[in-house]
Order: sequence, then C-alpha cells, then structure tokens
Amino acid sequence: KTKSRELRYSFMYKNEENFMSNVIIKATNDQLSQMKAYYRSYLLNKQIPYTSFAAKKDGTTITAYTSGKVMFQGTNAAIEADKWGEAQDKQAKPAKTASSLPKNISQLSVLGSDEVGNGSYFGPLTVCAAYVKRDQLAELRKLGVRDSKELKDSQIIQLADILKKTIPYKLLVLSPEKYNEIQPKYNAVRMKVALHNQAIHLLLKKIEPEKPEAILIDQFTPEANFKKYARLEKNQLQEKLYFVTKGEQYHLAVAAASIISRASFLEELDKASAEAGITLPSGAGTKSDQVAAKLLEKGGMPMLEKYAKLHFANTEKALKLLKK
Ligand code: MN
Repeated sequence: KTKSRELRYSFMYKNEENFMSNVIIKATNDQLSQMKAYYRSYLLNKQIPYTSFAAKKDGTTITAYTSGKVMFQGTNAAIEADKWGEAQDKQAKPAKTASSLPKNISQLSVLGSDEVGNGSYFGPLTVCAAYVKRDQLAELRKLGVRDSKELKDSQIIQLADILKKTIPYKLLVLSPEKYNEIQPKYNAVRMKVALHNQAIHLLLKKIEPEKPEAILIDQFTPEANFKKYARLEKNQLQEKLYFVTKGEQYHLAVAAASIISRASFLEELDKASAEAGITLPSGAGTKSDQVAAKLLEKGGMPMLEKYAKLHFANTEKALKLLKK
C-alpha cells in the first residue's frame, strides 16, 4: 500500500515537470522557417549559440536549435508542440500497418503494460508496466495469473500483492484531481500514451542492464496514434514495441500489469469512498450520476473534482439531478 502511494507522489511531483511541461520535437529546415515566421511577434532578442531562434509565447519558451531540435518549455508546452508535431506527421512516410507480433511471443521475456480506470467516472487512472522473464512464466501461470476480467475483485487484490513481490513493475496513479488539471491540455488518449510511455521507461531503467525481448502494450489507440503522441514525450521508447488488443491473452506480463493496475484502482476507490463518506461506484452509469449529485450537495464542485473525472457526461447529468 505504501508503495503505490510513494510512486504516486514521486510521479506527481518529481517527474511532473518532465512529463508535462518539457517537449522536444525534431523539425526540418522548412519547418524551422515556418515556425520562425509563426512566432515572429514573440521572438526573444537574445543570441544563443547554435540556435536558429528563441521565442516566448503565453508562458511557453520555444528554443529552436540549428540541428532541427525544437524545445518547448512551460505551461503550454504540450499545446504549442502539438501544432508542429502534427505538421511533422503529415510529412512523414505513410503510417505502416500494425507490426505483427513475434510468433513465439508468449514464450519470451516480455515487458507488458496496461491501464485501468479510463472508463470509470470516479477513481484514478492507473497504469502499470510489468516485466515477466521466460523462466517465471510457469510460476505465474500456477499462481493463476490471467485476464483480470475473468477474476473477482478479491482475487485481483490477492494476486496483485503476490505479483508485486515476484516481478519488477512500475505503477503510476493519476488522481482525479490531477487528471482534471491535465485533461483540458491532454486529451484522454494522449494522457494514456504519456503514462504508458513513462511507466515503461521507468521499468526499463529499473531492470537495467537486463533488456526485455519485446515490449507489449495492451492497445487502446492505433499504433500510429500512439507513436505520434509518444514523440512528444521526453523519454522515447525505441525498440521492439508491439501493440495488440486483449494483450493479456498474448503474454502474462500484460495480464500481470492489468491485475496490478486493477488492484490499485480498487484500493484507491475504496480509500476515496472512506474519505468522501459515500461509496463511489466504478463505471459511468446512472449510479455515478446519483452519487455525484450527492457530493455536489455536500461540497459543491471543489468536492466533486477530488473524486471524479469531470469531463465525463456524468457531471452534467448530476447537475441536472440537483436542479430537480
Ligand atoms: Mn487494457
């Protein structure tokens, strides 16, 4: 328990700057001159060696290097970089079709990742990367590790505890409060890409010098889309990256990642329920609307935003329930 809390704090504070407000892209010469023209009213009058130009717009500093690297720093870094990330994409070669998995992937040493909470109005978004080596596959199978959708909540929590002691993993927990803060800037897909990217990067560091034979991401967006957003992240994943839906059926590392992230989601929802003094349901149905209305009654929007992902339609529905 203390472990997931520690990781959450380190993620929210220590890594936040890298994660959210420092973006580097690679631009062509043509793009560099387009950008210089675009930022002409914001250019900074200073000469920095090896830079083509520097500008400051709405709290974001843009530094373009003659090498073609362009760095965006500050509160709106992601938004500014996105303008050019897109442009860069259109000039890139046509998107490849999804890379096919190695035939024997289920037998390899694989780093897998999965997330939970994306479809739930209440509770955090949790993302886990887990590493399972070839020689641990049998042990995990014996423990009963499989698709978390086939397991009861009590089994998930029990299994997650064992897994955390058995395999290396990284768990990132994005609280609803933090989610609401980021969501206007990062759409839900981009947020997930950033979290998967970061969890995998941190786990790769942790298991060094060991290297997985493949990295398998439980697919939530087309591969080209993932790569487009991942390019905006500070830490770039290069090698042996594979995407597949229902990833837990292809390798136990994804199943383990889904169990650990699901257990964390359930624990967080429990804690939040205790704090709020009302049972916060999982999912996004009418029950969620009703509970949201009660929270609004109790503490208004400042209370609701601590527990719920506000951009869901449930918020509007809860406000309507209140007016009745
Ligand atoms: Mn998934």
